[in-house]
Amino acid sequence: MDKIIRIALDGPSGSGKSTVAKKLSSKLNILYLDTGAMYRATALKALSLNIDTFDEEGVKTFIYDINLEIEYIDGTQHTYLDGEDVSERIREPHVSMAASNISSLKCVRLKMVEMQREIASKMSCVLDGRDIGSYVLPNADYKFYITASVDVRADRRFKELTLKGHKVNFEELKQEIEQRDYNDRTREFSPLVKAQDAIEIDTSFMNIEQVLGKVLSIIEK
Ligand code: C5P
Repeated sequence: MDKIIRIALDGPSGSGKSTVAKKLSSKLNILYLDTGAMYRATALKALSLNIDTFDEEGVKTFIYDINLEIEYIDGTQHTYLDGEDVSERIREPHVSMAASNISSLKCVRLKMVEMQREIASKMSCVLDGRDIGSYVLPNADYKFYITASVDVRADRRFKELTLKGHKVNFEELKQEIEQRDYNDRTREFSPLVKAQDAIEIDTSFMNIEQVLGKVLSIIEK
């Protein structure tokens, strides 16, 4: 059997890591797991139950038995919550902030990390997130920390949401990204950090093909 390889791509919101992860997985023909989608689906569950996303006791009432499934259709990840494909709904702007909030809860992280490790134990994969190299897969074969300035990240997110037909305000979006960065970096349990052995790539002045080329050149070395 071929060796299983695991690649960790971490970094703040909008750094381009999910686009790179997607392309990388298809180039290497390995699985891509978007771990942010799992936190987003968890937030959607809390919102649907009217449970405050900071209310740990409330979240504990559903997190251990959450019916969250990840499936792949033609190589694309689909996220199912209680049997419903919520892949589109979890991208709505209000879910982003709720996901950022709920992801600070230890009970949520422990559950998500358990699921992520289970998926990653079976096959070669690329995982993108905030704590993959530092916590979820500390023994990953390759670790990258993908970053970009906050203005560039807000601009990318603005274009992405506008293209999808959402009416968004650039300054509000930028503030939201800063708030999410702050939440991710300062939470007590498993915060966003660059793993010591991760290679940092600042994508502020790079396009996706350049980032992908750089990542591939390191992996293929
Ligand atoms: O990556 P994405 O923006 O879709 O993730 C949504 C939220 O989930 C992030 O704002 C972050 O707070 C949280 N997250 C996390 N750990 C991960 C992936 C995402 O805390 N591994």
